[in-house]
Amino acid sequence: MARRRKLYEGKAKVLFEGPEPGTIIQYFKDDATAFNNKKTGTITGKGVLNNRISEYLMVRLAEIGIPTHFVRRLNMREQLVRQVEIIPIEVVVRNVAAGSIAKRFDLPEGDALPRSIIEFYYKSDALDDPMIAEEHITAFGWAAPQEIDEMMTLSLRVNDFLCGIFSVIGLRLVDFKLEFGRLYNDDEVRLVLADEISPDNCRLWDINTNEKMDKDRFRRDLGGVEEAYQEVARRLGVLPEAGAMDIKGPTAVQ
Ligand code: UDP
Repeated sequence: MARRRKLYEGKAKVLFEGPEPGTIIQYFKDDATAFNNKKTGTITGKGVLNNRISEYLMVRLAEIGIPTHFVRRLNMREQLVRQVEIIPIEVVVRNVAAGSIAKRFDLPEGDALPRSIIEFYYKSDALDDPMIAEEHITAFGWAAPQEIDEMMTLSLRVNDFLCGIFSVIGLRLVDFKLEFGRLYNDDEVRLVLADEISPDNCRLWDINTNEKMDKDRFRRDLGGVEEAYQEVARRLGVLPEAGAMDIKGPTAVQ
Protein backbone atom coordinates (compact mmCIF):
# COMPACT_ATOMS: atom_id res chain seq x y z
CA MET A 1 0.00 0.00 0.00
CA ALA A 2 1.23 3.50 -0.77
CA ARG A 3 2.61 5.41 2.22
CA ARG A 4 -0.03 7.65 3.63
CA ARG A 5 0.48 11.25 4.50
CA LYS A 6 0.48 11.90 8.23
CA LEU A 7 -1.57 14.98 9.01
CA TYR A 8 -1.22 15.15 12.77
CA GLU A 9 0.04 13.12 15.67
CA GLY A 10 -1.67 13.60 19.01
CA LYS A 11 -1.31 11.95 22.38
CA ALA A 12 -3.51 8.94 21.71
CA LYS A 13 -4.11 9.03 17.95
CA VAL A 14 -2.43 9.68 14.63
CA LEU A 15 -4.41 11.22 11.78
CA PHE A 16 -3.62 10.25 8.19
CA GLU A 17 -4.97 11.54 4.93
CA GLY A 18 -8.00 9.42 3.94
CA PRO A 19 -8.56 7.52 0.69
CA GLU A 20 -10.80 10.20 -0.76
CA PRO A 21 -11.01 13.99 -0.33
CA GLY A 22 -12.78 15.05 2.82
CA THR A 23 -11.85 11.89 4.74
CA ILE A 24 -9.27 11.15 7.40
CA ILE A 25 -7.98 7.95 8.96
CA GLN A 26 -7.80 7.92 12.76
CA TYR A 27 -5.14 5.49 14.02
CA PHE A 28 -5.53 4.61 17.72
CA LYS A 29 -2.26 4.24 19.64
CA ASP A 30 -1.56 2.47 22.93
CA ASP A 31 0.17 5.57 24.28
CA ALA A 32 -1.37 7.17 27.33
CA THR A 33 -0.72 10.56 28.82
CA ALA A 34 -2.10 12.35 31.84
CA PHE A 35 -1.70 15.65 33.65
CA ASN A 36 -0.96 17.48 30.41
CA ASN A 37 1.82 15.10 29.31
CA LYS A 38 3.58 15.12 32.69
CA LYS A 39 2.81 11.40 32.97
CA THR A 40 3.24 9.14 29.97
CA GLY A 41 2.98 5.40 29.46
CA THR A 42 1.58 2.59 27.38
CA ILE A 43 -1.64 0.71 27.92
CA THR A 44 -1.28 -2.47 25.88
CA GLY A 45 -4.21 -3.00 23.56
CA LYS A 46 -5.83 0.35 24.41
CA GLY A 47 -5.81 1.51 20.79
CA VAL A 48 -7.59 -1.60 19.57
CA LEU A 49 -10.20 -1.39 22.31
CA ASN A 50 -10.82 2.36 22.02
CA ASN A 51 -11.23 1.97 18.24
CA ARG A 52 -13.99 -0.59 18.86
CA ILE A 53 -15.60 1.17 21.81
CA SER A 54 -15.70 4.53 20.03
CA GLU A 55 -17.04 2.91 16.84
CA TYR A 56 -19.83 1.25 18.80
CA LEU A 57 -20.84 4.42 20.65
CA MET A 58 -20.63 6.70 17.60
CA VAL A 59 -22.78 4.28 15.58
CA ARG A 60 -25.38 4.05 18.36
CA LEU A 61 -25.42 7.85 18.68
CA ALA A 62 -25.86 8.23 14.91
CA GLU A 63 -28.86 5.88 15.14
CA ILE A 64 -30.63 8.35 17.43
CA GLY A 65 -29.84 11.25 15.11
CA ILE A 66 -26.66 12.69 16.62
CA PRO A 67 -24.48 13.80 13.69
CA THR A 68 -20.93 12.41 13.97
CA HIS A 69 -17.74 12.38 11.92
CA PHE A 70 -17.57 8.56 12.02
CA VAL A 71 -17.78 6.69 8.70
CA ARG A 72 -16.58 3.14 9.39
CA ARG A 73 -13.94 1.11 11.16
CA LEU A 74 -11.21 -0.01 8.75
CA ASN A 75 -9.22 -2.46 10.82
CA MET A 76 -8.03 -3.18 14.37
CA ARG A 77 -6.57 0.25 15.00
CA GLU A 78 -8.02 2.50 12.31
CA GLN A 79 -11.30 4.13 11.48
CA LEU A 80 -12.38 6.33 8.61
CA VAL A 81 -13.90 9.66 9.61
CA ARG A 82 -15.02 12.80 7.83
CA GLN A 83 -12.57 15.67 7.82
CA VAL A 84 -13.89 18.45 10.01
CA GLU A 85 -12.62 21.74 11.35
CA ILE A 86 -12.23 21.01 15.03
CA ILE A 87 -13.69 23.64 17.35
CA PRO A 88 -10.88 24.28 19.87
CA ILE A 89 -13.09 23.57 22.86
CA GLU A 90 -13.44 20.55 25.12
CA VAL A 91 -17.02 20.12 26.28
CA VAL A 92 -17.14 18.28 29.60
CA VAL A 93 -20.44 16.88 30.88
CA ARG A 94 -20.61 15.86 34.54
CA ASN A 95 -23.18 13.82 36.42
CA VAL A 96 -21.19 12.98 39.53
CA ALA A 97 -18.47 14.93 41.37
CA ALA A 98 -14.98 13.66 40.47
CA GLY A 99 -11.66 14.94 39.23
CA SER A 100 -11.22 18.67 38.82
CA ILE A 101 -14.75 19.72 39.87
CA ALA A 102 -14.42 17.79 43.13
CA LYS A 103 -11.15 19.60 43.82
CA ARG A 104 -12.38 23.03 42.69
CA PHE A 105 -15.48 23.06 44.92
CA ASP A 106 -14.24 20.65 47.61
CA LEU A 107 -16.99 18.13 46.82
CA PRO A 108 -16.74 14.52 47.99
CA GLU A 109 -15.88 12.31 44.96
CA GLY A 110 -18.92 10.24 44.06
CA ASP A 111 -21.62 12.69 45.14
CA ALA A 112 -24.31 13.05 42.49
CA LEU A 113 -24.45 16.62 41.19
CA PRO A 114 -27.79 18.46 41.58
CA ARG A 115 -28.12 18.24 37.79
CA SER A 116 -25.86 17.51 34.85
CA ILE A 117 -23.31 20.29 34.44
CA ILE A 118 -21.62 21.33 31.20
CA GLU A 119 -18.20 23.00 31.29
CA PHE A 120 -16.01 24.36 28.52
CA TYR A 121 -12.21 24.18 28.35
CA TYR A 122 -9.97 25.82 25.77
CA LYS A 123 -7.92 23.17 23.94
CA SER A 124 -4.35 24.30 24.51
CA ASP A 125 -1.55 22.13 25.88
CA ALA A 126 0.61 25.23 26.32
CA LEU A 127 -2.03 26.77 28.61
CA ASP A 128 -3.04 23.50 30.29
CA ASP A 129 -6.59 23.53 28.85
CA PRO A 130 -7.99 26.41 30.94
CA MET A 131 -11.66 26.40 31.87
CA ILE A 132 -13.55 29.08 29.94
CA ALA A 133 -16.96 30.72 29.89
CA GLU A 134 -19.26 31.29 26.90
CA GLU A 135 -18.06 34.90 26.93
CA HIS A 136 -14.51 33.81 26.11
CA ILE A 137 -15.73 31.52 23.34
CA THR A 138 -17.68 34.25 21.59
CA ALA A 139 -15.28 37.12 22.31
CA PHE A 140 -12.27 35.21 20.96
CA GLY A 141 -14.32 33.86 18.05
CA TRP A 142 -13.80 30.15 18.83
CA ALA A 143 -17.48 29.41 18.18
CA ALA A 144 -20.65 31.37 17.43
CA PRO A 145 -23.46 31.65 20.02
CA GLN A 146 -25.68 29.30 18.02
CA GLU A 147 -22.85 26.78 17.82
CA ILE A 148 -22.49 26.92 21.61
CA ASP A 149 -26.24 26.28 21.96
CA GLU A 150 -26.01 23.37 19.56
CA MET A 151 -23.00 21.87 21.34
CA MET A 152 -24.85 22.09 24.66
CA THR A 153 -28.04 20.54 23.30
CA LEU A 154 -26.14 17.73 21.58
CA SER A 155 -23.97 17.12 24.64
CA LEU A 156 -27.01 16.69 26.89
CA ARG A 157 -28.61 14.27 24.40
CA VAL A 158 -25.34 12.33 24.21
CA ASN A 159 -25.22 12.29 28.02
CA ASP A 160 -28.77 10.94 28.39
CA PHE A 161 -28.19 8.25 25.80
CA LEU A 162 -24.76 7.19 27.08
CA CYS A 163 -25.98 7.11 30.71
CA GLY A 164 -28.60 4.59 29.52
CA ILE A 165 -26.17 2.48 27.50
CA PHE A 166 -23.69 2.29 30.38
CA SER A 167 -26.23 1.74 33.13
CA VAL A 168 -27.57 -1.45 31.50
CA ILE A 169 -24.03 -2.86 31.59
CA GLY A 170 -23.53 -1.88 35.22
CA LEU A 171 -21.44 1.25 34.70
CA ARG A 172 -22.04 4.75 36.00
CA LEU A 173 -21.15 7.53 33.59
CA VAL A 174 -19.55 9.99 36.01
CA ASP A 175 -18.31 12.50 33.43
CA PHE A 176 -16.89 12.68 29.92
CA LYS A 177 -15.35 15.02 27.37
CA LEU A 178 -16.62 15.67 23.85
CA GLU A 179 -15.19 17.53 20.89
CA PHE A 180 -17.13 18.96 17.98
CA GLY A 181 -16.16 19.93 14.46
CA ARG A 182 -17.54 21.85 11.51
CA LEU A 183 -18.33 19.69 8.50
CA TYR A 184 -18.27 21.69 5.28
CA ASN A 185 -20.54 20.40 2.54
CA ASP A 186 -20.81 22.68 -0.51
CA ASP A 187 -22.26 25.88 0.92
CA GLU A 188 -23.46 24.23 4.09
CA VAL A 189 -21.70 23.94 7.45
CA ARG A 190 -22.87 21.38 9.98
CA LEU A 191 -21.73 20.80 13.55
CA VAL A 192 -20.87 17.16 14.21
CA LEU A 193 -19.49 15.12 17.08
CA ALA A 194 -15.80 14.35 16.46
CA ASP A 195 -12.74 12.81 18.14
CA GLU A 196 -13.57 9.64 20.12
CA ILE A 197 -15.66 8.41 23.03
CA SER A 198 -13.77 5.86 25.11
CA PRO A 199 -12.49 5.16 28.64
CA ASP A 200 -9.71 7.65 27.78
CA ASN A 201 -12.20 10.51 28.01
CA CYS A 202 -15.04 9.15 30.16
CA ARG A 203 -15.11 8.32 33.85
CA LEU A 204 -16.90 5.01 34.24
CA TRP A 205 -17.47 3.45 37.66
CA ASP A 206 -18.88 0.01 38.33
CA ILE A 207 -22.40 0.57 39.68
CA ASN A 208 -22.05 -2.07 42.41
CA THR A 209 -18.44 -1.74 43.52
CA ASN A 210 -17.62 1.87 42.48
CA GLU A 211 -14.46 0.47 40.93
CA LYS A 212 -12.95 2.84 38.36
CA MET A 213 -13.00 1.41 34.84
CA ASP A 214 -11.29 4.20 32.93
CA LYS A 215 -8.10 6.21 32.49
CA ASP A 216 -8.11 7.21 36.18
CA ARG A 217 -6.58 3.75 36.80
CA PHE A 218 -3.57 4.97 34.80
CA ARG A 219 -3.63 8.55 36.14
CA ARG A 220 -3.72 7.37 39.77
CA ASP A 221 -1.54 4.23 39.42
CA LEU A 222 -4.36 1.93 40.47
CA GLY A 223 -3.16 -1.03 38.38
CA GLY A 224 -5.37 -3.25 36.24
CA VAL A 225 -5.55 -0.60 33.53
CA GLU A 226 -5.61 -2.98 30.52
CA GLU A 227 -8.16 -5.18 32.29
CA ALA A 228 -10.47 -2.23 32.93
CA TYR A 229 -10.52 -1.18 29.25
CA GLN A 230 -11.09 -4.83 28.27
CA GLU A 231 -13.95 -5.15 30.72
CA VAL A 232 -15.70 -2.05 29.32
CA ALA A 233 -15.32 -3.48 25.79
CA ARG A 234 -16.52 -6.90 26.97
CA ARG A 235 -19.62 -5.48 28.64
CA LEU A 236 -20.43 -3.44 25.52
CA GLY A 237 -20.07 -6.67 23.50
CA VAL A 238 -17.24 -5.34 21.33
CA LEU A 239 -14.22 -7.23 22.67
CA PRO A 240 -12.32 -8.64 19.66
CA GLU A 241 -13.24 -12.32 19.02
CA ALA A 242 -9.95 -13.78 20.22
CA GLY A 243 -10.18 -11.71 23.39
CA ALA A 244 -7.00 -10.40 24.96
CA MET A 245 -4.90 -12.46 22.51
CA ASP A 246 -6.24 -10.45 19.62
CA ILE A 247 -5.61 -6.97 20.94
CA LYS A 248 -1.85 -7.04 20.90
CA GLY A 249 -1.98 -6.77 17.14
CA PRO A 250 -0.42 -9.01 14.54
CA THR A 251 2.51 -11.20 15.59
CA ALA A 252 5.25 -11.84 13.06
CA VAL A 253 5.24 -15.39 11.68
CA GLN A 254 8.67 -16.99 12.11
N1 UDP B 1 -11.00 14.86 30.02
C1 UDP B 1 -10.43 14.53 28.79
N2 UDP B 1 -9.40 15.29 28.33
C2 UDP B 1 -8.89 16.35 28.99
C3 UDP B 1 -9.47 16.67 30.25
C4 UDP B 1 -10.52 15.92 30.72
O1 UDP B 1 -10.85 13.59 28.15
O2 UDP B 1 -7.95 17.01 28.50
C5 UDP B 1 -12.12 14.06 30.53
C6 UDP B 1 -11.71 13.21 31.72
O3 UDP B 1 -11.35 11.90 31.30
C7 UDP B 1 -12.96 13.17 32.54
C8 UDP B 1 -13.67 14.50 32.22
O4 UDP B 1 -13.11 14.94 31.00
O5 UDP B 1 -13.79 12.11 32.13
C9 UDP B 1 -13.51 15.55 33.29
O6 UDP B 1 -12.14 15.71 33.58
P1 UDP B 1 -11.65 16.67 34.76
O7 UDP B 1 -11.95 18.09 34.41
O8 UDP B 1 -12.19 16.18 36.04
O9 UDP B 1 -10.08 16.60 34.69
P2 UDP B 1 -9.08 15.48 35.16
O10 UDP B 1 -9.37 15.20 36.60
O11 UDP B 1 -9.34 14.33 34.24
O12 UDP B 1 -7.74 16.14 34.91
